[in-house]
This record gives sequence, C-alpha cells and structure tokens, in this order.
Amino acid sequence: MSGRSIAIVGAGFCGTALATELLRRSRGECRVTLIDRTGIGRGVAYARRAFPFLLNVPAGRMSACSAEPQEFLRFAQQRLPGVTAADYLPRALFGDYLQTRLAAAVAGAAAGVTLERVHGEAIALERVPRGGRMQVHLADGGSVVAEAVVLALGNPPPRAPCPPEMVGDNARYVTDPWSIRAPVRPGETILMIGTGLTTADLVLAGHESSGGTATFHALSRRGLMPAAQSGFGAPAEPLAAARLLAAAADSVRALLRVVREHASGGADWRETITTVRELAPQLWRHLEPRERQRFLRHLQPYWDIHRHRLPESTAATLAALRRDGTLRTHAGRLVSLRTRGRRIHARIRPRGSAQTQELVVDRVVNCTGPDFDVRRSGDRLVRALLAQGLMVPDPLGLGISTGPHGALLGRDGRPSTRVFYVGPQLRAAHWESTAVTELRDHVRHLATHLMDHAATPPARLNAAPAHLAAAPP
Ligand SMILES: Cc1cc2nc3c(=O)[nH]c(=O)nc-3n(C[C@H](O)[C@H](O)[C@H](O)COP(=O)(O)OP(=O)(O)OC[C@H]3O[C@@H](n4cnc5c(N)ncnc54)[C@H](O)[C@@H]3O)c2cc1C
Repeated sequence: MSGRSIAIVGAGFCGTALATELLRRSRGECRVTLIDRTGIGRGVAYARRAFPFLLNVPAGRMSACSAEPQEFLRFAQQRLPGVTAADYLPRALFGDYLQTRLAAAVAGAAAGVTLERVHGEAIALERVPRGGRMQVHLADGGSVVAEAVVLALGNPPPRAPCPPEMVGDNARYVTDPWSIRAPVRPGETILMIGTGLTTADLVLAGHESSGGTATFHALSRRGLMPAAQSGFGAPAEPLAAARLLAAAADSVRALLRVVREHASGGADWRETITTVRELAPQLWRHLEPRERQRFLRHLQPYWDIHRHRLPESTAATLAALRRDGTLRTHAGRLVSLRTRGRRIHARIRPRGSAQTQELVVDRVVNCTGPDFDVRRSGDRLVRALLAQGLMVPDPLGLGISTGPHGALLGRDGRPSTRVFYVGPQLRAAHWESTAVTELRDHVRHLATHLMDHAATPPARLNAAPAHLAAAPP
C-alpha cells in the first residue's frame, strides 16, 4: 500500500498542531498516529486546572497557525463574545481550541487521510530491518510502526536544586510544580525555588486557595521576576536587523550595546525585545560558541525576565503581594533543605553575602524551569535514544541536537531521515523556540517536509494500548 505514515509522540501543543496541519494539507493516502500518555491537545500549558490561569500572550497573537493569525481570536469570540485581540484569555480555552481544530481537521480530511489516537507512553524506537521504517515501542507492550516518527515530548522536568537525600521522599518537597496535589492551605508558608513564570502562576493560585493567608518566599540567583506585558505597537523607529546581525557576529557585548541604545532612545523596550526575539534564531547562529556561553552565563536571566512577560493584571497582583509582604523575593542560592518534623528548614545564601539565612517553611516547590540538559534526563524514551545513538545532547546543554526540519542528529553527526523533534528543545539550534508564535512555524515547516518525504501507512503490532478514540480529541 502506498501513502504516508507518520507517528507523533506527544500530543500537547506541537504534536496536536502538527497532526492538524498534516490532516488539513494531505492529499492521497496518509495515516497520522498521535501517541500520548495523558490526553490530546493540552500538554502542561493548556491543561484544565482548578485555578483559571491566563495565557501570557494576548489572544490576537496566539493562533496555532501563522497563515491564519486571527484563528484563535475567532474561536474565542464564538465562546466569549466581545473579547478582543488584546485580551489575555484562559489557558484551558486554548486547549479547547487545539482540540476543536484537530477534530475539524479529522472531519474535513481528504479521502484516505486518517488520524489514529493511541493512549500510551513511548519508551523506545527501533528500526524495522526491512523497509527502513521505525517502530515505536509503548510501555504497555504495544507498538506502532511508521515511516517517520516525530518526537513532540514537551519540556523536560526541572533539575533538583539540592541532592534528593536532603529531603528524602517528603511529599512537602514538590519536584514537579505542575503535579501539586494538595492546594496551598490557609496559613501555609511556601518556598518557591525560582522567580519566573511558574512561580508567578503558583503564587497566584496558592494565594487564592489559601484565602489570602499563605506566605510565599521565592528564591533565585538574582531574585528577578518577569516584567509586565504592555499594549503591543509598532516601534517609532524599528531596530534594524542588519545592525543586530552585525553586532552578533562581533560579540554578545556588542549585541547588548545595540539593544540598550535602541531601548533607551525612546522606543518601548518591549518592542525592542520583540525585534530581537524575531531575529533570535539568526542571531544565535551568528554567535560563536564562546559568545553563546557568555550569553548563557551573564545575560540569560535578564533576557528571560524581559522576554517571558506577565499579563498586566497578573503583574499588578504580584506587585501588590510583594508590597504587603505576602510574597518575598530573595536573590541568592539554596544551600540545603532539611526536614524537621512537619516543616522544612531551607538554608539560603543571599547574593553577595558570606552568611547564610534560614527559612522555615511548610512546603518547597521546585520552579526552576525545565532542565534542558538531556544528559541528565530520567525519561525512558530519551535515555533509550541516547543509548542507541539516535539522539545526541547539545554540547551547551540546551536540548536535543537537531539538523534541518528538526531531524535528530545521530551519534554519527548525520541528520536522521526518519526521526524528528519539534518543541522547546529546538532552542539548541534556534535559541527562541518556547512560545506558540515560534513553535507554530517549526510545526508548519516540519509538516511540509514530512508531506514531501514520508511514505507507507503505519502498522499496529501487538495491538494493546487503549485508544483515546472514545474521548474527545
Ligand atoms: C505553564 C505554561 C504556560 C505557557 N503559556 C504560554 C502562553 O501563554 N503563550 C505561549 O505562546 N506559550 C506559552 N507556553 C509555552 C508553549 O506554548 C508550551 O511550552 C508548548 O505547549 C510546548 O508544546 P509541546 O507540544 O512541545 O509540549 P507539551 O504541550 O507539554 O506536550 C508534550 C506532550 O508529550 C507527552 N509526552 C511526553 N513524553 C511522552 C512519551 N514518552 N510518550 C507519550 N507521550 C509523551 C506529554 O504527555 C505531553 O502531553 C507555556 C508553557 C507552559 C509550561
């Protein structure tokens, strides 16, 4: 049988958007298999949660498809009449949107173009000896065979900020911030390790669930919290791409100088950052490895708080919580965590100080952000791929090494013709690949490549995994 066959591991934003793209655009026979151990179309970011978290980007900039930039806004307006492009909408609504557009793509797919949903965890890939296809092994013993496999695994979990033996299996030490079971209770004191977007989210949710009686400490090396968004508008005088590229070819220091000059010359610094962000992949390629390291060591924390911003309402609430002492930020390092009775004693060393200071808290939450160094990954699939030499880590610890179209670079340095990656770990090659606006372009390019190259529908072997077909997509 001729035709295309593509298995996608991971059905969060990237996997779902890719499946949608393939279903919408394929003509002739094509079978897409979407594998996920949770559900379809949500991932970590767009899951339904007890607290109504908002998107960090206004509705008018959140389309999953760059060719239809107002698609999400139109969807949202059907559900919430009156919303505008400037509104920050609930993240769960974005998950609804991803599911709805996938369902529409299934319904509208050309004859012979199909989607199979598989509920399961992929744990290994193997080359099928004849025909060069790939077999995706699942934890429940089943497997899927396809001509091409796309890994859309999302963000890796955060790195432990202290040796695990310090806290043992204490449930009060939360290693994955998105897996907190018990809401923050009245009067609790919580230490957040990290001061970024995740901390901002969890402080807001915890403040509400505790009835406004919990206290939060947030610790990071510099104690910097993300800046607030503002109205988006074209800068009076755009920052010239040529100036930025020339500076990047010189040094990170030169790049910083150009950006500072522009931002202090009357432009809204957010628009300056937007220009830099749009050019980030090219700038990253221009930087020598040594300069990339300099950027990571000295500038990344500053880049992060300016680039990853909060809706104005969220930033205003956090500012108020800081003013009244509900949220206390600390610049410094975590030295140790010790469990004593029902509480955790955290010893921190404030930045620039030789002394340490103790915080006694009820819970500690690791909000340090994804650990992109795959050499430390505990994920079964990633470990298997590294061991096989099908995947190699980026030398700077930024993610997975990829070639054109996100093709995995193998131990031999050659790009795979069968296994691809799409998602935030593309930062090793492109630097900025975190938000929907960046990821949707990677998804689109990969879809085009796969449609041009992949062939032969996938076969199911040892059919066992429970299908998600009965559930909404
Ligand atoms: C909390 C949060 C909020 C965000 N908010 C915004 C925002 O407002 N605007 C914006 O532009 N960007 C936002 N982002 C960034 C961006 O949109 C997300 O990171 C994006 O969803 C990444 O998509 P992904 O498909 O790579 O990962 P995910 O959406 O996380 O999906 C990965 C999926 O892979 C599955 N999976 C992983 N390994 C396996 C395996 N071995 N077998 C089977 N399944 C597996 C997981 O179950 C998961 O469903 C946010 C990110 C986060 C974390």
